Amino acid sequence: MIHVLPVRTPTLPPATHTNVYRVGRVVFDAASPYADEQARTLAWVRESPVPVDTIVLTHHHHDHVGGAEALRTALRASGTPAKILAHRDSVLPFDLDGTLDDGDVLDTGDGPLRAVYTPGHAHGHLVFLAENGDCIAGDLVAGTGTIVVAPPEGHLETYLQSLRRMLPLAKRLYPAHGPDLPGEDTLRHYLFHRAMRTEQVRVARDALLAAGEPVTPVAVAERVYAGIPGVDPLFAALQVAAILAWLEEHHGG
Ligand SMILES: [Zn+2]
Repeated sequence: MIHVLPVRTPTLPPATHTNVYRVGRVVFDAASPYADEQARTLAWVRESPVPVDTIVLTHHHHDHVGGAEALRTALRASGTPAKILAHRDSVLPFDLDGTLDDGDVLDTGDGPLRAVYTPGHAHGHLVFLAENGDCIAGDLVAGTGTIVVAPPEGHLETYLQSLRRMLPLAKRLYPAHGPDLPGEDTLRHYLFHRAMRTEQVRVARDALLAAGEPVTPVAVAERVYAGIPGVDPLFAALQVAAILAWLEEHHGG
């Protein structure tokens, strides 16, 4: 059974919280850097009927890892030999006790969870799949806000491959931000939305070229996102930069 505790984190608006998930002895994304939220996380972890001894990180972004070291320290102080695991490509301000790779199976004490390597949003991104298709999804998808795939770390084609890979596998997605989501419908929608946005970027780029104006991510973003409220211009430009790179890779510019 998947338990969830949303904790306040310095994440990207409109999201304000990151979901910490718990399955058996394993906690995913002990996320909050704030002391009050870390205390709440520890109390919630101690509710587990199976003593928690493993902290797994879906990826290394700061709004997913901010409470991991504090939780490990607190569990160790109470006599549990707790460990933190993540993909080896993760870059973290603390030491890992081991690494996870594609196909590794976590023995949670409440059913096995298989790690699936799903990069594109972040280096070393992993999701965790139960035998019934439940999937702890990290930032592969989001129930609140959108997933930023921005260079230099983000890579659109790699991200699309990760979405396609999970399409036949994930029946229910448990994202790091917002409520859980149907697997197939959500992944299809994400693939459709990215394809639509890519087409809009191509049209805007070609219009700038035809007008003899410089093609910059900011100029393209101003056309693509015109009239869409609440869009952060910096992130819009970064998303567009990822799509322009994809167009160059796939269609010779
Ligand atoms: Zn992330």
